[in-house]
Amino acid sequence: MGGECTADPLGLFHGCWTGGILPDMETEMTHAMNLSKRALGVPASPTLAITARVKELKAAGEDIIGFGAGEPDFGTPEVICDAAVESLRSGQTRYAPTPGTPEAREAIADKLRTENGIECTASDIIINNGAKFTVYLALQAIVNPGDVVLLPTPAWVSYKPMIELAGGVVREIPAGPDSDFKMTADQLEAAIDDDVRAIILNSPSNPCGTMYSPEEVRALAKVLEANPRVAVIADEIYERLVYSDEPYLSMASVPAMAEQTITINGLSKTFAMTGWRIGYACAPGKNGEVIKAMTRLQSQMTSSITSFLMSSIPAALQKATAEVSSMRDTFAKRAELIHGLVTQWPGVSCPRPTGAFYIFPDISCCFGKTSGGGVRIQSAMDFASALLDEAGVAVVPGEGFLGCGVNHVRLSFACSEDDIHAGCQRVREWLDRLT
Ligand code: PMP
Ligand code: GLU
Repeated sequence: MGGECTADPLGLFHGCWTGGILPDMETEMTHAMNLSKRALGVPASPTLAITARVKELKAAGEDIIGFGAGEPDFGTPEVICDAAVESLRSGQTRYAPTPGTPEAREAIADKLRTENGIECTASDIIINNGAKFTVYLALQAIVNPGDVVLLPTPAWVSYKPMIELAGGVVREIPAGPDSDFKMTADQLEAAIDDDVRAIILNSPSNPCGTMYSPEEVRALAKVLEANPRVAVIADEIYERLVYSDEPYLSMASVPAMAEQTITINGLSKTFAMTGWRIGYACAPGKNGEVIKAMTRLQSQMTSSITSFLMSSIPAALQKATAEVSSMRDTFAKRAELIHGLVTQWPGVSCPRPTGAFYIFPDISCCFGKTSGGGVRIQSAMDFASALLDEAGVAVVPGEGFLGCGVNHVRLSFACSEDDIHAGCQRVREWLDRLT
């Protein structure tokens, strides 16, 4: 599986090893500043790389339409900002308790109990510097070197590197557009053996934009319940951004799964707070051992989150309902709009987005063709690179999402309707010039 990425015209995977962190990799110890195997083995996040690239190009005056960034294009609701400013002005500028203040933890526990049906108390909660770090800490807390962690793919770009940084071994469970990118309970059952320690579930999914129905969650729960050694890391960061008629069901609200699940969420997406870096985990049961372990790890790594942001957590969860609902409605409209436009691209298909703010079309019909600018398209990476250079449209190539992602690109519709119209039109014209 190992090997350096070859076709990487965007330079996103520069120096990365697709086979993961390589413990046996030879490193020549010739200089004090030689890098560790761990640092050499970890790829940079391609989603953040694309986002940064688009910002650079725009700042240089280029006419770019960005479908790369996985972050809301709205400002943070004022009521949340006010709470943080007030805390800052009133002197909340010293170290806070590592897992969070009692008020912030209670506000999260209350949200999880009332909105998600998860039985928990404030002591079952830890607050972290962004949900990305929450996932990382959860893995560090429960995975031993050599443990297998199941990863339904396509999956968000950071899961595999984080599993490998914890010493785990990724076992993919692939799904494709035919099943809306969702694994079946039978696939899950077949993937479990004695080596499996955990599974990462992400619904609604980044990058697929689809979500498991309550019935599907219950079917997966049945398999997992029969395998109590398998911990579920349920990344529910897009749980409020859903656009189907079906309600959202949290894995930990299934009674048998309550103590087998680490629920992960955060304020970044729902409340348009990506730069604030606030994520959290909930893990009831086992005498709170998981949260205690995550707290110990965090106490040696980052301490608490920024102390004067603690008060913004109850403010967001309790006082921003109208703003959240308006942002969700806007995303729902954009989901319809972009799906209608993308499915008009010749030869391109994709399921309707039912959650998050991503659409993940299969663009493999373009492989083997040559772009108007003379680039031979042989991969999603070639597609994304030529599209950016020739049409000024940024999308994320699917390679980093694993599985059938190699045939796809991800478009984020966290951008204006005008950008969606104009960007999709540019892609269409660019596709028309392929020969
Ligand atoms: N999980 C998923 C599935 C995501 O897409 C993201 C995107 N950032 C995160 C976790 C991390 O969110 P945060 O910005 O809070 O670190
Ligand atoms: N999660 C977002 C994305 O996938 C933000 C970037 C990142 O953290 O990967 O685009």
